[in-house]
Amino acid sequence: MATRLSLTTPLIELPAYLRRMGAATAGRLAAELAAAVGKASPAAVTVEDLLFYLPFRYEDRSHLPRIRDLTDGMAASVAVEVHAPASVPIRTKNGKRLTLFEFTGRDETGRIRAYWWNQPYLRQTFPAERRVILYGEWRFSNRHQCHQVENPEYELLSDETDADAPETIHVGRCVPVYRRLGQFRARALRTLMFRVLEALGDLPDDGLPDELRAGDGACGPLPTKVAALRAAHFPGAGANLAEMEARRSPAHARLALEEFFLLTLALGDRRRRREEAGAKATMAITDAVRARVQRALPFPMTQAQKRVIREIVNDMTGVRPMSRLLQGDVGSGKTIIALQALMVAVENGWQAALMAPTEILAEQHYRSLTRWLEGMPYRLAALTGRLKASEKKAIRQALAARELDVIIGTQALIQEDTTFARLGLVVIDEQHRFGVMQREKLVARGVAPDVLVMTATPIPRSLAMAVYGDLDVSVIDELPPGRKPVATAVRGNDRRARVYDFIRQECAAGRQAYIVYPLVEESEKLDVAAATAAAEYLQREVFPTFAVSLLHGRLRADEKDAVMQRFVAGDIQILVTTTVIEVGIDVPNASVMVIEHPERFGLAQLHQLRGRVGRGAAKSYCVLMTPDGISPEALERLTFFAETLDGFAIAEKDLLWRGPGEMLGARQSGMPTFRVGDIVRDADWLAAARQIARRILREKPNDPQTLSWLDQARRLFPLAVGGVH
Ligand code: ADP
Ligand code: MG
Repeated sequence: MATRLSLTTPLIELPAYLRRMGAATAGRLAAELAAAVGKASPAAVTVEDLLFYLPFRYEDRSHLPRIRDLTDGMAASVAVEVHAPASVPIRTKNGKRLTLFEFTGRDETGRIRAYWWNQPYLRQTFPAERRVILYGEWRFSNRHQCHQVENPEYELLSDETDADAPETIHVGRCVPVYRRLGQFRARALRTLMFRVLEALGDLPDDGLPDELRAGDGACGPLPTKVAALRAAHFPGAGANLAEMEARRSPAHARLALEEFFLLTLALGDRRRRREEAGAKATMAITDAVRARVQRALPFPMTQAQKRVIREIVNDMTGVRPMSRLLQGDVGSGKTIIALQALMVAVENGWQAALMAPTEILAEQHYRSLTRWLEGMPYRLAALTGRLKASEKKAIRQALAARELDVIIGTQALIQEDTTFARLGLVVIDEQHRFGVMQREKLVARGVAPDVLVMTATPIPRSLAMAVYGDLDVSVIDELPPGRKPVATAVRGNDRRARVYDFIRQECAAGRQAYIVYPLVEESEKLDVAAATAAAEYLQREVFPTFAVSLLHGRLRADEKDAVMQRFVAGDIQILVTTTVIEVGIDVPNASVMVIEHPERFGLAQLHQLRGRVGRGAAKSYCVLMTPDGISPEALERLTFFAETLDGFAIAEKDLLWRGPGEMLGARQSGMPTFRVGDIVRDADWLAAARQIARRILREKPNDPQTLSWLDQARRLFPLAVGGVH
């Protein structure tokens, strides 16, 4: 026999440790788990992977009800002995043939009836006198004069595979219930977990820093890792099952804290490395710089904007490179903040880059900056798809030769080869659209430039911590003066004519409107054809006296730009469009936003779309046009949205309803996935873990123990913390 079984033992080696465990079974189990946890090879699956396959519920079988205790409508597990099993062919009224399998179950207090449809093979599963546990909703049957249950979950008691495991694993206690894993059902998994935990014995805890285990923070003293796993699978007699099922027990805390600790430690370490990777782009603020920035500002800053720019300038003139996330609701005025940061960098002799998620937004930023910087000696360029290859090449050469100060573009800036002579600042607008890795890539090209990430999707704090754990956060919590709330309404098709009337009225008064269609995929030809047809119909039949134009992602870059410029200039009154205008677009004269099929959008997305209006002095409106037959749940979501203007409250609801992966686009954002922890539910544990991770990085960044944790983190969260920079 090999050395002792440990958490890192490959699962396929289990037969060396457990009697009567065959290589074939171990192999199948490893293959199932590899698929479930996303490991490339079954050989890489460990005992730990198996034990993190946690039960999804628990059943208190310490006092199973007897048959006598059943009441009509009760959901319960009952242990019975099988009698008179029988398959019965049945012909329904409309001639369909069905097979009914049924048996009578007995205990000392009475009898019940259990039946299943069209599963004749159950005849083999339930021979007479076999003891079984049935779980389901019990109904009293007048015809049979006993309680009965249809299609119950079942578990066979004491079969021959139990030679090495006592029946007391399955009855007379709180038992774990697992989701089926391939051919491995709850009962087989329960036996296996029990035997593996037994063979593991007690291992010293090596996963958590003492501070966390002692429970400095939210969680109180915690069990060791193996003890936590044991308790999570087989709760003790007094365990609070509701707490266990909610995954908020001390056992779950121990397991979740380890994940949170490792992640936040790795994120913090990544930041430290970035800071040490090169010299900081040194910058200073002089009166001359201050005066120039002041001169460029077209309006007075709000208090919140002033505070935020101070925080940013402090970072830029400090000794460590800036890593800052700027959050501000739609329309709070983030672009002008970016302008000031860019100016500070350029005034100090550095180049600055501004990246936007879409070409349309990059073009808009280029125009705003050009306007604001008119008459100043700055050299600006936009690197977008509209340019010819030769033009792009010329811009790249100018950047490398330090003949440009500010470059504005999309991902193309980093996807293609761009070299900066002296990059000192990177501003990334609407970061959640960029991969974390891409952000790293751009940064790696410079000296250790300052990085400012701006987002209008208000990211709840817990999520920000997990995804951007290595960023400082600034918040603009105030809108520019004079903004009126956008009146939002949910309308069905019966009101369509009146909505169109209203658009006509607004356009006649000199204002403009968006009508947004949800294209499933910007690339789908069919959808584009539908949007094109809709735009033509609206122009011809509904708004003949106004200019209607179509804007979608499949248009060529120069076509998009041309349409957008005509809309900005007011030559187009009604823009029929898609989510290409979702973020950042700023046309203050637009006062109506109509969204078709709003039920297909997430709430945060709807909020972004609504944020396209209400940017000027005029009262603005957002109309959600719901299709016939919309579900009550969808309607409830939309009604909540219509009544809520606070982007933060909306984002939190979105997170709750759709989950963090959906909200940010998991893969794209580098969103880590956890085995036990949940950043929304367990935000308190996340905060506690992060605090201790920070302290450890400060006090002993190069301790062998710290390095070993970082190693584990990279294995656990390759996507989120894989980059070195
Ligand atoms: P965000 O990017 O935060 O959604 P923008 O930067 O596009 O918002 O700004 C929204 C609008 O508000 C723009 O038209 C901008 O010029 C204007 N704006 C920004 N700050 C102020 C301010 N302090 N006073 C008046 N208008 C402002
Ligand atoms: Mg913006």
